[in-house]
Amino acid sequence: MAQAFLLKCDCGYEKEAQIGEGRMGMRLENIRTVFLEAELAEFEAVLKSGCTDYCYGRNLAYCRNCADIINSHVLRYAQGGITKQIIRPCGCGEALLPWDSNIFIKCPRCGGLMDAETTGYWD
Ligand SMILES: [Zn+2]
Ligand SMILES: [Zn+2]
Repeated sequence: MAQAFLLKCDCGYEKEAQIGEGRMGMRLENIRTVFLEAELAEFEAVLKSGCTDYCYGRNLAYCRNCADIINSHVLRYAQGGITKQIIRPCGCGEALLPWDSNIFIKCPRCGGLMDAETTGYWD
């Protein structure tokens, strides 16, 4: 299940974003096109051991280098009872900070509070 929305700030900052993923996007073929082979090395090994407990989707993250909200790709999977998380780095190469409502409810440009308007749902 995915949700698309538009984050808006009074200063004019706007960001279209998506959280979660539809059924098609959850497929392994898609996950393998989103992440680099090296990033998935451990995940692939876990899959080979028979684990099917994983979840992929889009989520919000923050890039300190770009000082912007990034709609990143996140893959979670269980390994030996521990939940691992892979977050695709920003396009600029910087590692992203995962979404934290305490940080990202604020506009990255002016620090004001942003409105989130839902623009769609899909499965
Ligand atoms: Zn960046
Ligand atoms: Zn703002």
